Amino acid sequence: MWDIDYTLLRGGGVASSAWKAAFTEVTGVPWQDTPIFGGRTDTDICAEVFASHGVTDCTPERFFARYVEVVHENRHEFAVQGALMPGVREVLTRLGDDPGVVQTLVTGNVPQVAAAKVAAFGLEGTFDAEVGGYGTDDSVRATLVRRSLERAEAKYGERFLPVVVGDTVYDVTAALANGAVAIAVATGATPADALAAAGAHVVLGDLSDLETTVRVLTAATPPASRSIEVPAAGA
Ligand SMILES: [Mg+2]
Repeated sequence: MWDIDYTLLRGGGVASSAWKAAFTEVTGVPWQDTPIFGGRTDTDICAEVFASHGVTDCTPERFFARYVEVVHENRHEFAVQGALMPGVREVLTRLGDDPGVVQTLVTGNVPQVAAAKVAAFGLEGTFDAEVGGYGTDDSVRATLVRRSLERAEAKYGERFLPVVVGDTVYDVTAALANGAVAIAVATGATPADALAAAGAHVVLGDLSDLETTVRVLTAATPPASRSIEVPAAGA
């Protein structure tokens, strides 16, 4: 269960620009202040933005519909303004060759924006997006992990050991709330020690050490004793 932003890639501000433009188009209210997006679900952020701007006559559904359109219009900008995080393509490719692994997305993004981001980097065939968890499923990130697991078990008819990979404390706590393995990667704004303190089973500096990353992600059970920190290559 891959988080997208600052785990797989950075979008270069394309989605947040689209968010602000769509907000003013749909509500007529000028954009005032930007909340902290990292690790949160779009439903959660939307509720805060509506409240902080005094918007009471719009629904998240109406806003998301226009937001998705604006992202779609600007989707070519993701690969121009943004980038994949180190080692991501190699790790995804290796895991894609493992018949025992199903890779999907568990992200606070709405599904269409999640799809646009990964497609911008040619990764659309990598994930079974049908069994993902998305920011429109719930405002609470732990529910996204649960929904993804339910979708995967319904589609494949088997039990999975869920492994959540993310860059924020929200990813870690969402994994732990579901009994999932929590793999944190310190390629976002959250430092490695904070990810370890949140209870991540493993904290990676980044995903550039292919063998270590694949070994950690495919370990059968969470290393229960204490968290392990692997610094980024070159750190
Ligand atoms: Mg993230």
